Amino acid sequence: MSGQRVLNMAREQLATAASILNIDEGLHQVLAHPVRQVIVNFPVVHDNGEVAVYEGYRVQHNLSRGPTKGGIRFHPDVDVEETTALSMWMTWKCAVVNIPYGGAKGAVKVNTKQLSRREIEKLARRYATSINMIIGERSDIPAPDIGTNAEVMGWIMDTLSMQHGYTVPGVVTGKPIELGGSEGRVEATGRGVVVSAIEACRATGIDFEGAKIAVQGFGNVGSVAARLSEQHGAKVVAVSDATGGIYNENGLPVNELYQKFSGVEGGIRNYKECDEISNEDLLEVKCEVLMPSAIQEQITEKNAKKIKAKLVVEGANGPTTPEADRILGDKGVMIVPDILANAGGVVTSYFEWVQDLQNFFWEEDQVNDRLAKIMQRSFASVHDMAVKHKVDMRTAAMLIAVQRVAEATTMRGIFP
Ligand code: NAD
Repeated sequence: MSGQRVLNMAREQLATAASILNIDEGLHQVLAHPVRQVIVNFPVVHDNGEVAVYEGYRVQHNLSRGPTKGGIRFHPDVDVEETTALSMWMTWKCAVVNIPYGGAKGAVKVNTKQLSRREIEKLARRYATSINMIIGERSDIPAPDIGTNAEVMGWIMDTLSMQHGYTVPGVVTGKPIELGGSEGRVEATGRGVVVSAIEACRATGIDFEGAKIAVQGFGNVGSVAARLSEQHGAKVVAVSDATGGIYNENGLPVNELYQKFSGVEGGIRNYKECDEISNEDLLEVKCEVLMPSAIQEQITEKNAKKIKAKLVVEGANGPTTPEADRILGDKGVMIVPDILANAGGVVTSYFEWVQDLQNFFWEEDQVNDRLAKIMQRSFASVHDMAVKHKVDMRTAAMLIAVQRVAEATTMRGIFP
């Protein structure tokens, strides 16, 4: 999807919410535009001595509810429009779970598969330096996204700390625990997905214990969601990764799959007591709960009619297209939208930031308990809103988020 299409989609979603909430046109326009878009071009000396110039972005969408927060993506297809749309979604995600942040996003147009580890480090450090005038522990706090990880966050933290002359752990989240990262951060998104699924089951009269679950994607989000679902007594009947999926109607031993086959050549397909299925088949298996936790645009107008799940809990960002949303809605399928279902990551990033600012670190149980409470409370408020306005959960989540951001923006007033 081109960046402009993604941005149009984000603006369309905002327009729908603004119209239901009766937000005046001036305020709607404020929310439809990012506060800052910085485009940087910076050189990196490659291992062979050649110099290459890279283009990067940092976009801050709305500052009304607090400093901005959002991941950094290293990917060849990024552009400033896509980064802007993603920053807007971060604003709504932080608002729907009511943590005191606005949304931001960063990106560098690069194929990291063509770079050595040393080149990626130099790229990350130089990009961080290029945007250092707008990021900071009190202003805008990056985190990992596609193509970046805890190691990259560690380099960025070190780079900014070198420039300050002292260690500033709160300038990024998703860091290694040794550098001020939080217990529970790695599992947080998958954990939040499972809490959302349990709440959605409760709201729709499905018993999560014994419920059949299908999970697309067996990476950070999907593998944790599958393993925690199993721990809560659900039966995970199908999982998949980029190479395809496996299915057993009696349940798969997901913990064992994770221990034995993650990162191994051939992945989960090495497991034999199951049927091999494609990623498309996985979406259509008989189950109560489907957790698309891989990539965007997986449930579309082509396959939505064939989906048998009663609940779709979006671990991935943007797995369901607007057309599929309508089809599933007509079939009575509840969709727990991405900005709610996968918000566990940013909630625990918020915990990490709070711990860094206080230099006081929590036990893993405290992190997980607080995360579960926030996810449960957020699910309840979105569900109440959906019932009150007779809208689907995605629209309800947007209504809550946009209302909170609009209120904060109005209360602060327009300077000067
Ligand atoms: P990951 O890279 O760890 O895992 C992605 C998984 O999807 C892998 O198992 C991969 O094999 C699989 N996959 C890749 N292409 C696929 C395809 N075409 N069909 C089926 N499976 C495919 O990534 P992740 O961190 O688990 O993120 C997954 C999704 O969750 C993304 O949409 C991401 O934006 C979203 N998300 C992640 C976090 C987080 O904290 N990691 C937070 C919020 C949202």
